[in-house]
Amino acid sequence: SRKEFYRDTWAEVNLDAIAHNIKHMAKITGQKTGIMAVVKANAYGHGYVQVAETALSNGATHLAVAFLDEALFLRRQGITAPIVVLGASRPQNAGLAAEENVQLTVFTKEWIQEAGNYLSDGQQIRIHIKCDTGMGRLGVKTTDELIRLENEIEKNSAIHIEGIYTHFATADEVNRKYADEQINRFKLFVDALKQKPELIHASNSAAAFMRKDSLFSIIRFGISMYGLSPSSEIADLLPVTLEPALSLYTTIVQVKKVSPGDKISYGATYEAKEHEWIATLPVGYADGWIRKMQGFKVLVDGNRVPIVGRVCMDQCMIRLPKEYPIGTKVTLFGGENGHVLPMDEVADHLETINYEVACAVSARVPRVYH
Ligand code: PLP
Repeated sequence: SRKEFYRDTWAEVNLDAIAHNIKHMAKITGQKTGIMAVVKANAYGHGYVQVAETALSNGATHLAVAFLDEALFLRRQGITAPIVVLGASRPQNAGLAAEENVQLTVFTKEWIQEAGNYLSDGQQIRIHIKCDTGMGRLGVKTTDELIRLENEIEKNSAIHIEGIYTHFATADEVNRKYADEQINRFKLFVDALKQKPELIHASNSAAAFMRKDSLFSIIRFGISMYGLSPSSEIADLLPVTLEPALSLYTTIVQVKKVSPGDKISYGATYEAKEHEWIATLPVGYADGWIRKMQGFKVLVDGNRVPIVGRVCMDQCMIRLPKEYPIGTKVTLFGGENGHVLPMDEVADHLETINYEVACAVSARVPRVYH
């Protein structure tokens, strides 16, 4: 495809990998359980619309985002599939959500009372009740609260309970105990409802892979749709081979031979010990390639070479084993001619999780789709 950008750093998103990951998940979930593709945060950095379309044409029936703004963006891009907002929304925006056919998360009866004032005649809104079974984030805490909430909703014919759900805190751990307790509590919540909603959901990627008893009517498939493991702890236990979709590349824009004692980058913290080949890369912390990446080894021509000196806002430097020409491709993570630098290694270097690395690739980095 034609390059519509003029800088030599870009991310590649392999949509076939996303299709592969969804199809494999569909085999695990089976006929009875649907797939809601989690595309919040620009689809974990991969691109809202491209991922949404790929997911919907490969087995997902619903989309999930964190905020109403993200759902409205998808609507403006022509996405008509059901969208669920997983985060909190303002009751004042109930009318807007209804108008745009966006489903909202609700967890207090006050929200229902307030939202009623913002729905005009004939408007209908679908909501999902969130239960806090142990995540300690959003949700009703007790079945009494849930019953009061359901009673409040019953008073208003404009508000329809489309779903009830919860979220696991430890589904990505080998020890199953805490998630077992969450499932038990969730079942009590579901049983307390007078009417079972269409969608009952609990699983993220990890739970969907690791426990059949958490599947219910639909799963919320995020990180592993992108081909990444929910944690290193269960990476080797996953029942499918995931295909990572996101790669990050840059290109050498200058190469110089430096002498012993020459310094590199802000603070002059790196000093060449001998005659060294140093290359400048047009990628920096404003791209999400943060300062802590100093010392990490990127992939050049099949070899791992270190980032030396401080990472700048838009650039950083690497030390090469020999001279390479300007224009040489550098893999920051992803695949390159049979060699792979997994994103998980970047996450390990940063002492964080792959989720954060994917989300950190900033809007300034062009995405190329194939
Ligand atoms: N459900 C909720 C409520 C979430 O916040 C998330 C993402 O963090 C997901 C599902 C998707 O989880 P995962 O990316 O681990 O599959």
